Amino acid sequence: MENKTILIIDDTTTNLDILVELLDAYDVIDAISGKDALEIVGEEKIDLILLDIMMPEMDGYEVCRRIKENKKTKDIPVIFITAKTDEDSIEKAFNVGGIDYVSKPFKPKELLARVKTHLEFRILIENLEFLSSHDTMTGIYNRRKFFELAIQKFNNEKENLYAVMIDIDKFKDINDSYGHDIGDKVIKLLATTIKDNISESSVFGRLGGEEFGLICNSQSIDTVKQSIESLRELIESQEILSEENKPIGYTISSGISKMSSEIKNIDQLLKKADVALYEAKGTGRNKVIFR
Ligand code: GH3
Ligand code: MG
Ligand code: MG
Repeated sequence: MENKTILIIDDTTTNLDILVELLDAYDVIDAISGKDALEIVGEEKIDLILLDIMMPEMDGYEVCRRIKENKKTKDIPVIFITAKTDEDSIEKAFNVGGIDYVSKPFKPKELLARVKTHLEFRILIENLEFLSSHDTMTGIYNRRKFFELAIQKFNNEKENLYAVMIDIDKFKDINDSYGHDIGDKVIKLLATTIKDNISESSVFGRLGGEEFGLICNSQSIDTVKQSIESLRELIESQEILSEENKPIGYTISSGISKMSSEIKNIDQLLKKADVALYEAKGTGRNKVIFR
């Protein structure tokens, strides 16, 4: 918890000083106005916010509303610290997105306990979000998250969109010859290799056993073909060691499809890539086919 960063927003410097001292176990940033605070949340990684309500120019409600409006900052927990303890004010604090409130004058131990609790909740939620969106074995996106992001990409960046389906060749033979653990190592190596060699903006995930999907934007089909062909060559050159230290090679087949006017959704784009993959499998494997 020590390296968690808390942003405190209050228009009274004495209040800020007291809070900075109380929270000295954390990294603390203070802001004297809502405007300053909004700039800070845009630039720094903030884990929790303590927010005063009554401030000139922009009040705490408005600050919170704007933080919750922004996709990048909406998940930061906001605790109001307020002298306004009538029921309507408290209700409003929750309505604008506050997670909790502490009334002024605050009890230091209570404030610390609430801060700790909400930081712990945040960590739990982040862990759950990671687990529900990533494949445990490879650490890349799982099928569910892959489709979520692929649909987003399809809706927002249809232009020059490509889908690639990638599948390990004769993987059953690797399992049968060297065991399931070696098979797992191959899957992990493949996932890491692809992830390290694609652009940040691509969506890449494990769709099933030894099958992977990739969605990317590119200026030309030749660029996509070349990069997938390079991947194929790179994979072909890789070796992992069996339990008897025997080098084992493996290969992949890929099918590529391009967005067109007939394609109405991401499933159709992927289906087309899958047909190309099937063709690669049927015509010798260890190859890239575009359809
Ligand atoms: P093809 O070249 O046609 O793709 O042949 P293949 O043997 O790769 O394809 P097939 O679908 O027949 O077999 C895939 C195998 O992958 C079957 C399954 O037991 C294995 N597999 C699926 N998930 C995992 C996994 O997480 N770890 C390991 N070790 N094996 C897995
Ligand atoms: Mg004030
Ligand atoms: Mg296979």
